[in-house]
Amino acid sequence: MHIEKNKVVTLIYELHIDDGDQEKAFFEKVDEKSPLVFLFGSAGFLPEFENKLAGKKINNSFEFSIDFEQAYGDYDEQKVMYLPKSTFIPKGKIKPPAGMLTVGTLVPMKDKQGRAMRAEILKVEADRVQVDFNHKLAGYDLFFKGKIIDLRDATAEEIAHGHVHGAHGHQHD
Ligand SMILES: [Zn+2]
Repeated sequence: MHIEKNKVVTLIYELHIDDGDQEKAFFEKVDEKSPLVFLFGSAGFLPEFENKLAGKKINNSFEFSIDFEQAYGDYDEQKVMYLPKSTFIPKGKIKPPAGMLTVGTLVPMKDKQGRAMRAEILKVEADRVQVDFNHKLAGYDLFFKGKIIDLRDATAEEIAHGHVHGAHGHQHD
Protein backbone atom coordinates (compact mmCIF):
# COMPACT_ATOMS: atom_id res chain seq x y z
CA MET A 1 0.00 0.00 0.00
CA HIS A 2 1.30 3.46 -0.81
CA ILE A 3 0.08 7.02 -0.34
CA GLU A 4 -2.56 8.02 -2.89
CA LYS A 5 -6.02 9.52 -2.92
CA ASN A 6 -8.41 8.21 -0.25
CA LYS A 7 -5.72 6.75 1.98
CA VAL A 8 -5.54 7.88 5.59
CA VAL A 9 -1.98 9.00 6.28
CA THR A 10 -0.40 9.39 9.72
CA LEU A 11 2.93 11.14 9.80
CA ILE A 12 5.35 13.05 11.98
CA TYR A 13 7.55 15.88 10.80
CA GLU A 14 9.79 18.78 11.62
CA LEU A 15 9.44 22.01 9.67
CA HIS A 16 12.23 24.51 9.19
CA ILE A 17 11.69 27.73 7.27
CA ASP A 18 13.93 30.16 5.39
CA ASP A 19 13.02 33.63 4.15
CA GLY A 20 16.30 34.03 2.27
CA ASP A 21 17.52 36.81 4.59
CA GLN A 22 18.28 34.90 7.75
CA GLU A 23 19.49 31.42 8.61
CA LYS A 24 17.11 28.53 8.19
CA ALA A 25 15.02 28.50 11.36
CA PHE A 26 13.04 25.87 13.26
CA PHE A 27 9.28 26.43 12.95
CA GLU A 28 7.44 23.43 14.38
CA LYS A 29 7.64 19.78 15.27
CA VAL A 30 4.80 17.27 15.09
CA ASP A 31 5.67 14.07 16.97
CA GLU A 32 4.13 10.66 17.78
CA LYS A 33 2.14 12.10 20.70
CA SER A 34 0.08 14.20 18.32
CA PRO A 35 0.85 13.14 14.74
CA LEU A 36 -0.69 14.64 11.62
CA VAL A 37 -3.53 12.37 10.46
CA PHE A 38 -5.29 13.26 7.22
CA LEU A 39 -7.30 12.00 4.29
CA PHE A 40 -4.91 12.24 1.36
CA GLY A 41 -6.30 14.38 -1.46
CA SER A 42 -9.05 15.95 0.67
CA ALA A 43 -7.24 17.75 3.48
CA GLY A 44 -6.84 21.10 1.74
CA PHE A 45 -3.07 21.08 2.32
CA LEU A 46 -0.61 22.69 -0.06
CA PRO A 47 -0.78 20.65 -3.29
CA GLU A 48 3.02 20.47 -3.37
CA PHE A 49 3.08 18.97 0.15
CA GLU A 50 0.86 16.10 -1.00
CA ASN A 51 2.75 15.73 -4.31
CA LYS A 52 5.97 15.12 -2.40
CA LEU A 53 4.35 12.46 -0.20
CA ALA A 54 2.48 10.55 -2.92
CA GLY A 55 3.77 7.00 -3.42
CA LYS A 56 5.45 6.74 -0.01
CA LYS A 57 4.87 3.68 2.18
CA ILE A 58 4.56 3.06 5.89
CA ASN A 59 7.87 3.62 7.75
CA ASN A 60 9.30 5.58 4.80
CA SER A 61 11.17 8.70 5.82
CA PHE A 62 10.91 11.85 3.78
CA GLU A 63 12.83 15.06 3.37
CA PHE A 64 11.84 17.73 0.87
CA SER A 65 11.54 21.46 0.44
CA ILE A 66 8.81 23.64 -1.04
CA ASP A 67 9.74 27.03 -2.47
CA PHE A 68 7.67 29.95 -1.22
CA GLU A 69 6.11 30.37 -4.68
CA GLN A 70 4.54 26.94 -4.28
CA ALA A 71 3.85 27.43 -0.59
CA TYR A 72 2.22 30.63 0.69
CA GLY A 73 3.57 33.09 -1.88
CA ASP A 74 5.63 36.21 -1.39
CA TYR A 75 5.07 38.54 1.54
CA ASP A 76 2.78 41.30 0.24
CA GLU A 77 3.02 44.75 1.86
CA GLN A 78 -0.39 45.57 0.33
CA LYS A 79 -1.95 43.04 2.69
CA VAL A 80 -0.93 45.13 5.69
CA MET A 81 -3.63 47.75 6.24
CA TYR A 82 -5.66 49.79 8.67
CA LEU A 83 -9.29 48.92 9.36
CA PRO A 84 -11.73 50.98 11.42
CA LYS A 85 -12.19 49.56 14.90
CA SER A 86 -15.90 49.22 14.15
CA THR A 87 -14.99 46.35 11.76
CA PHE A 88 -14.33 44.18 14.81
CA ILE A 89 -17.52 44.94 16.69
CA PRO A 90 -20.19 42.25 16.23
CA LYS A 91 -23.68 43.42 15.18
CA GLY A 92 -25.71 44.58 18.16
CA LYS A 93 -22.61 44.97 20.39
CA ILE A 94 -20.77 48.11 21.37
CA LYS A 95 -17.23 46.74 21.61
CA PRO A 96 -15.07 43.94 20.20
CA PRO A 97 -15.02 40.56 21.99
CA ALA A 98 -12.63 40.56 24.97
CA GLY A 99 -9.04 39.87 23.97
CA MET A 100 -9.64 40.08 20.22
CA LEU A 101 -7.79 43.33 19.70
CA THR A 102 -4.52 42.16 21.21
CA VAL A 103 -1.29 42.45 19.23
CA GLY A 104 -0.42 39.05 17.75
CA THR A 105 -3.97 37.66 17.85
CA LEU A 106 -5.24 35.99 14.67
CA VAL A 107 -8.78 37.12 13.95
CA PRO A 108 -10.99 35.08 11.58
CA MET A 109 -12.47 37.38 8.91
CA LYS A 110 -14.07 37.15 5.49
CA ASP A 111 -13.02 38.97 2.33
CA LYS A 112 -15.47 40.63 -0.07
CA GLN A 113 -16.02 37.29 -1.85
CA GLY A 114 -16.88 35.63 1.45
CA ARG A 115 -13.69 33.55 1.61
CA ALA A 116 -12.38 32.82 5.09
CA MET A 117 -9.06 34.41 5.97
CA ARG A 118 -7.19 35.36 9.10
CA ALA A 119 -5.80 38.72 10.04
CA GLU A 120 -3.01 39.20 12.56
CA ILE A 121 -3.44 42.24 14.77
CA LEU A 122 -0.31 44.41 14.51
CA LYS A 123 -1.28 47.66 16.22
CA VAL A 124 -4.35 48.99 18.02
CA GLU A 125 -5.09 52.73 18.00
CA ALA A 126 -8.01 54.79 19.30
CA ASP A 127 -10.34 54.14 16.36
CA ARG A 128 -8.35 52.06 13.91
CA VAL A 129 -6.49 48.77 13.91
CA GLN A 130 -3.51 47.75 11.80
CA VAL A 131 -3.82 44.17 10.50
CA ASP A 132 -1.73 41.82 8.37
CA PHE A 133 -3.59 39.44 6.03
CA ASN A 134 -0.41 37.66 4.92
CA HIS A 135 -0.17 33.99 5.86
CA LYS A 136 2.39 33.68 8.66
CA LEU A 137 4.56 31.56 6.32
CA ALA A 138 4.30 33.97 3.37
CA GLY A 139 7.73 34.56 1.87
CA TYR A 140 9.30 31.44 3.40
CA ASP A 141 10.72 28.36 1.74
CA LEU A 142 9.60 25.30 3.72
CA PHE A 143 11.84 22.36 4.65
CA PHE A 144 10.03 19.24 5.82
CA LYS A 145 11.67 16.17 7.32
CA GLY A 146 9.68 13.28 8.76
CA LYS A 147 8.31 9.77 8.61
CA ILE A 148 5.11 7.99 7.61
CA ILE A 149 4.05 6.11 10.74
CA ASP A 150 0.69 4.69 9.61
CA LEU A 151 -1.25 4.24 6.41
CA ARG A 152 -4.64 2.68 5.80
CA ASP A 153 -7.59 2.73 3.44
CA ALA A 154 -10.20 5.36 4.28
CA THR A 155 -13.65 4.02 5.09
CA ALA A 156 -16.54 4.79 2.73
CA GLU A 157 -17.91 7.12 5.39
CA GLU A 158 -14.63 9.03 5.71
CA ILE A 159 -14.46 9.45 1.92
CA ALA A 160 -18.07 10.69 1.87
CA HIS A 161 -17.36 13.17 4.69
CA GLY A 162 -14.00 14.24 3.29
CA HIS A 163 -12.20 13.84 6.63
CA VAL A 164 -10.72 11.24 8.97
CA HIS A 165 -12.66 9.74 11.87
CA GLY A 166 -11.23 8.25 15.05
CA ALA A 167 -8.72 9.13 17.72
CA HIS A 168 -6.86 11.91 15.91
CA GLY A 169 -9.61 12.61 13.40
CA HIS A 170 -12.90 14.43 13.28
CA GLN A 171 -15.06 13.97 16.36
CA HIS A 172 -18.77 13.96 15.55
CA ASP A 173 -21.37 14.94 18.13
ZN1 LIG B 1 -17.32 12.75 9.46
